[in-house]
Amino acid sequence: ANSTLTGKVALVTGASSGIGEATAAALAAAGAKVAVAARRADRLEALVARIEKAGGVALAIEADIAKAGDIVAMVDKVVSEWRRLDILVNNAGVMLLAPAAEADLDDWRQMIELNLIGLMATTKAALPHLKASKGHIVNVSSVAGRVANPGATGYAATKFGVVAFSEALRREVYADKVRVTVIEPGLVRTELGDHITNAESKAGLEHRLATMEALTAEDIANAIFYAVSQPPRVNVNEILIRPTDQE
Ligand code: NDP
Repeated sequence: ANSTLTGKVALVTGASSGIGEATAAALAAAGAKVAVAARRADRLEALVARIEKAGGVALAIEADIAKAGDIVAMVDKVVSEWRRLDILVNNAGVMLLAPAAEADLDDWRQMIELNLIGLMATTKAALPHLKASKGHIVNVSSVAGRVANPGATGYAATKFGVVAFSEALRREVYADKVRVTVIEPGLVRTELGDHITNAESKAGLEHRLATMEALTAEDIANAIFYAVSQPPRVNVNEILIRPTDQE
């Protein structure tokens, strides 16, 4: 544990597994109070217990980031508990891969509602508090937000959207001393592929994971920690991070 982020309040969405869980643990280990949000309350409670055992402070908030009402309640809960918000990590996301001709429209809708609208609505709800604290927004996009690959049409549309939203947002809020960072990971070993409904796309991802050394969730948490632990004059706008094995 160290004290780099002592006095700061962070909110991490999609913190019940993978990158969000690792990021919440890293921010808490650096002294931030961390609110962890997702739908699986049991996993959030386990994470809070783990953070507290390590001497940190955390709060579980059950929220569906595809629902506007849950988003507003989530942000209100953090601010009513701790009276401020310094770091927002918009990480919740799904990757429902399928060739466009076979894509399930509900999968496309879910990705847009969560990966894009959910991230945008969370940002909007948090912005007054982040302006007050001269805070920091970290948006988790993907290599798929920079390179559009076949088989990932809908997912790439949402992740390119996150990059565009983040850059426009940065230019709106920099004068308020609010920083914006977009993180673009390549393949990371997490639960992300578990929800793919297209059998061939799911098998393709499993094959890639079996034949390369993917990144770990902690590798991405390190990148996020780097961005949010810089002095206020340093605005790390973008981090593109691939496994060495990835083309
Ligand atoms: P995981 O599946 O392990 O984590 C996804 C998180 O998002 C979970 O905590 C999940 O919690 C949460 N989530 C999903 N749906 C919702 C919802 N409707 N409301 C609230 N939370 C939700 O995958 P990763 O850690 O890999 O994914 C995190 C982010 O990283 C995503 O945005 C993903 O696109 C991005 N990313 C991942 C890469 C990878 O290779 N793994 C590469 C590039 C980017 P719960 O189900 O409990 O709600």
